[in-house]
Amino acid sequence: MSQYIIALDEGTTSARTILHDECANRLSIGQKEFTQYYPKPGWVEHNPEEIWQAQLQSYKEALNKAEITSNKIACIGITNQRETTLVWDKRSGFPIYNAICWQCRRTAEMVTEFKKEHGVAIKEKTGLVLDSYFSAPKIKWILEKVPGARERAEKGDLLFGTIDSYLIYKLTSEEIHATDPSNASRTLLYNIYKEEWDPELLELFNIPDKMLPDVVPSSGLVGYTSSNLLGASIPISGCAGNQQSALFGHGAFEKGDSKCTYGTGNFMLMNTGNQPVRSETLLTTIGWHINNQTTYTLEGSIFTTGAAIQWLREGLQIISSSEESEILAKSVSDNGGVYMVPAFTGLGAPHWDQEARGIITGLTRGTTRAHITRAALESVAYQTYDLINTMQKDSNHSINSLKVDGGTTKNRFLLQFQADILNIPILRPESVETTARGIALLAGLGIGIWSNKEEFTSLESENEIFTPKMDPKTRSKLLDGWSNALKRAFSDNHLMEY
Ligand code: ADP
Repeated sequence: MSQYIIALDEGTTSARTILHDECANRLSIGQKEFTQYYPKPGWVEHNPEEIWQAQLQSYKEALNKAEITSNKIACIGITNQRETTLVWDKRSGFPIYNAICWQCRRTAEMVTEFKKEHGVAIKEKTGLVLDSYFSAPKIKWILEKVPGARERAEKGDLLFGTIDSYLIYKLTSEEIHATDPSNASRTLLYNIYKEEWDPELLELFNIPDKMLPDVVPSSGLVGYTSSNLLGASIPISGCAGNQQSALFGHGAFEKGDSKCTYGTGNFMLMNTGNQPVRSETLLTTIGWHINNQTTYTLEGSIFTTGAAIQWLREGLQIISSSEESEILAKSVSDNGGVYMVPAFTGLGAPHWDQEARGIITGLTRGTTRAHITRAALESVAYQTYDLINTMQKDSNHSINSLKVDGGTTKNRFLLQFQADILNIPILRPESVETTARGIALLAGLGIGIWSNKEEFTSLESENEIFTPKMDPKTRSKLLDGWSNALKRAFSDNHLMEY
């Protein structure tokens, strides 16, 4: 039996396909970007057909590079940008509107109204904060704004799905309409305690239940790809949202295991075991559902981390490449008293201040671009420190080491500083494709390439370890400096938004 595993990694800006061998090693990768549409300020959309074509092209590219044909593929796993919302015609499979991206703020006003009355009840059932980030308000918008949509939805002619569902639908030639609990739990319609679509929430958002996909395990046979599409009928046996898949890819299978993805923003997830943990300031969500068991996670996101480096490059133009940030930061012995709070779009977890804005404090005549650059990198570590502290407190579990991935973790200065500030080792795996690796493992597990998670231990890739070296006095002085700067960045109405 052939043992090649395909990970379809459908991201926010590109669709990727990663081919793995039976030891979950990456053999080849195909990638195709697709267009971001910004029809109005704050609105973000994707063209579903472009996503589909990009996914198919990336699949062909990955196979061609490795000179492998579809009949050698044992299984496919799908991981995806979460929350992004699509509604399509049940018969033709044709979307009735573009995909509304998770970043899109078009429903902000509707959500503010809803939140006053229903915010607390919704968090009780879904573990999520009512925000336009999630799917339900986006579905409601489509049903209200696209002519005839509500009527068609009531008749059962329309289907809703996040991108995983859409890809499954397309890959199975419109036969299977399914999603997994990690994706369902990001819609605001899924009761994570009862583990089912919630009739009260559906009523609240006025969404017909006929539109919803079946919720299937994250690992296990979902269906087969149509053979006229990829040249073979391949089992689809894994499905998970990208952050949860990355947590799985890091091998974070035990309660308390955590990972942080450092990209444009940071996404931190902690495995909280088979019980959901309620938190004031973090999201409670589903990690995966395997063998009749659900693993829950706590999640927190920081809006601006790598984007602060991008701003130095493109906005301030004081560095010419992201890599230069590391050289500059290391060129000075310390931050020179300079702190940056990059609250460009407000502050996310754990501070939650939508109206906070960015500041740089401690400027003197001696401040150079190196200090400012260092302050930007340090801000990534301080924000992560704040988030981890909250996560430890809320989960009642101490984090003794942190697994990391994402574009910003190329920066070794940052990872050393992060280890110093957290005073725990930082582990960066050699394989940076943890999201794809996670779904490859879930898919392989789903068709029996591996029989249990324990077998993955032998497949784990080596980690580079960053060990803390900073003396406690320096650490506490820096943290004081950060906390002073943070206070100045808060808006006047800084209150918990929960
Ligand atoms: P996303 O998945 O959110 O698009 P990536 O994981 O691709 O993000 O990471 C991109 C981010 O990483 C950018 O914001 C960029 O500024 C940052 N970045 C990339 N390389 C470096 C580096 N060497 N040092 C600091 N930041 C970096």
